[in-house]
Amino acid sequence: MEPGEASPLRHFVLAKRTVNGIFEQILLYAKEASAFAEGLTPNCPELLSCCTKLTTIRDVLARRHMKVAFFGRTSNGKSTVINAMLRDRVLPTGIGHTTNCFLRVEGTDGEEPYLTTEASAERRSLQTVNHLAHALHMDPTLDSGSLVKVFWPKGRCTLLRDDLVLMDSPGTDVTEELDSWIDKFCLDADVFVLVGNAESTLMNTEKLFFHKVSERISKPNIFILHNRWDASVTEPDHVEEVRKQHLDRGASFLAEELRVVSLEEAPGRIFFVSAKEVLYSRMHRAQGMPETGGALAEGFHERLREFQSFERTFEEFISQSAVKTKFGQHTVRAGQITQAVRDAMDAVNISAVAAAMLDQIRSLAVLVEEFRSDFNPTPDTLALYKAVRPVLRTPNTNMGSKTAHTHMGFRDAESVRPLLSLDAQEHFQLPGSRPDLLLDLNLAQLCGDFQEDIRFRFSLGWTALVTRFIGPVNAKRALAAVTLPLSLPPSLPPSAEQNMVQEGANLKDEMVVSIATGLVSVTSRASMTVIVIGGVVWRSVGWRLIALSLSLYGLLYLYEKLTWTEVARERALKRQFVEHASQRLRALVPVASHGCSQQVHSHLMSVFSRLSQRVDLSEAELEEQIRLLTFKIQQLESVQRRSKVLRNRATELQGHLDVFSAQYLHG
Ligand code: GDP
Repeated sequence: MEPGEASPLRHFVLAKRTVNGIFEQILLYAKEASAFAEGLTPNCPELLSCCTKLTTIRDVLARRHMKVAFFGRTSNGKSTVINAMLRDRVLPTGIGHTTNCFLRVEGTDGEEPYLTTEASAERRSLQTVNHLAHALHMDPTLDSGSLVKVFWPKGRCTLLRDDLVLMDSPGTDVTEELDSWIDKFCLDADVFVLVGNAESTLMNTEKLFFHKVSERISKPNIFILHNRWDASVTEPDHVEEVRKQHLDRGASFLAEELRVVSLEEAPGRIFFVSAKEVLYSRMHRAQGMPETGGALAEGFHERLREFQSFERTFEEFISQSAVKTKFGQHTVRAGQITQAVRDAMDAVNISAVAAAMLDQIRSLAVLVEEFRSDFNPTPDTLALYKAVRPVLRTPNTNMGSKTAHTHMGFRDAESVRPLLSLDAQEHFQLPGSRPDLLLDLNLAQLCGDFQEDIRFRFSLGWTALVTRFIGPVNAKRALAAVTLPLSLPPSLPPSAEQNMVQEGANLKDEMVVSIATGLVSVTSRASMTVIVIGGVVWRSVGWRLIALSLSLYGLLYLYEKLTWTEVARERALKRQFVEHASQRLRALVPVASHGCSQQVHSHLMSVFSRLSQRVDLSEAELEEQIRLLTFKIQQLESVQRRSKVLRNRATELQGHLDVFSAQYLHG
């Protein structure tokens, strides 16, 4: 390839840049996702390990390069081929490897070439190629199979700029450590170039080496360069014959022995070149001199074209192969990691939704708990339960019709109860259905006029008989009428007192009339009965029976007189007091109930005002709670939004990876 032409190596360079860019984005994304998840659930090991893995892969990818390793017997011209490709005398030639070390040439961004060895990372300056040769000769640390890294300014060589690393090996004829060489230097090589010469066919040691390589690497990319082809001009008659012989043997080796390519493809991997001529002409051209100047053998241009053809084919192969082997696996890995991060974001999203739902479920439980209606399994009640609204508890309504307004008062108080916070509800016990009423009846004053009558009264005496004749009701009313004006309590209001006096007067009049009428009728009826009965009895039984009756009457009197003990007197006194007090209290009922009603009302008013204060407090608490919950909801929403965005970003990055795979890996 001549300068100015687009190198096939650019394919690798572009692929590397693309995949590095994607990895950079994935890493940033994973870090962002990890930081996001860290804020939610600290120590999220999965995402942290994703970040670590991505960082490692990114660093490996950044160091990725194409590597070509040159093998062949000493003096076949491996170093000269490398120099020809680099268009400069980078490696010493013609001296043969006096040491058994590997020379690895790679680019450096600096201006000056230098070398490092395995023993020392110290940069040793390489002003000229002879410095390197001297170093290789004189360094006692460079033992068999060690590696010397030669850093060559990228500015002086396009191949190195395009991430190509070239490895020169000690001749396959000078060492028996082939196995360890392969393991140490060849397993990451993308292309192997077997440098042979035009004079001899491939040696067994060279073949053995590639057999060992293909045992370790499946289908290695192998090119065979028959170098020093310029020497063939000395025998022009046999050129084509020799060429065909080399070609057939080489193709057979690649296709039939190693089976790395088909027999048809194999000739495309075998070239007949003169590295010395190419290097010579390129250096001349670089110095502004005619490239054909000097002693160039006949057929130079043809050999140059073949070398260029090798370079192009080699570059195409190595870039295609390197992209697949060096990025393919990591692309798959990146896809898996991205998927893992996306899954983690999905999990965050789901848990955010779950948290919101759990809150709802918790508040549902509170609502149901607050629901305190009497439960009847009627369709209406069930519908009410399903609506899950806080409903008032039906208050106890045993207050009677006179206290209907106080009953309403309780309902009002109860209606504010759900407005209180649960805490407040617990601490603030509403009064029961009835308040504790303060009813001072002042019984002593009320019964101040009580007049006991515990004198002995014979049951068949005059008073008793009169009572029996006029009826107990009239007798009591008569008693009440006589005593009422004297026994009114002073605490009663004047109007009530007047009413009672008036009522007493009316009763007295009624009693006088009633007693008079009763007496008249008794007198007339009694006299008639006595005369009739007396006459009849006298006639039939005579005076004995009368005497017996009188003695019985006397005995009865005596018996009653004897049984009129202290106990009987106390019983009578109690009965009389109860009757008297009941009468007084009944008269007081309307007044007292009015007083109670007032008490209940004022009690309720104070309860209501205290409740109102608590409701105000609870309202403030609820507002604070609402504010906190709103903040929490906003946070959850933003978590959801963010996790969704991050999840979508994963899909987008996965898309980039797919495009990359389609463009570079499966193309
Ligand atoms: P190496 O030991 O395989 O690295 O071989 P070198 O690159 O050191 O070359 C050994 C000798 O072969 C040097 O003297 C080179 O000048 C010479 N040489 C290399 N390539 C060619 C070529 O294409 N034609 C001729 N005539 N000589 C070559």
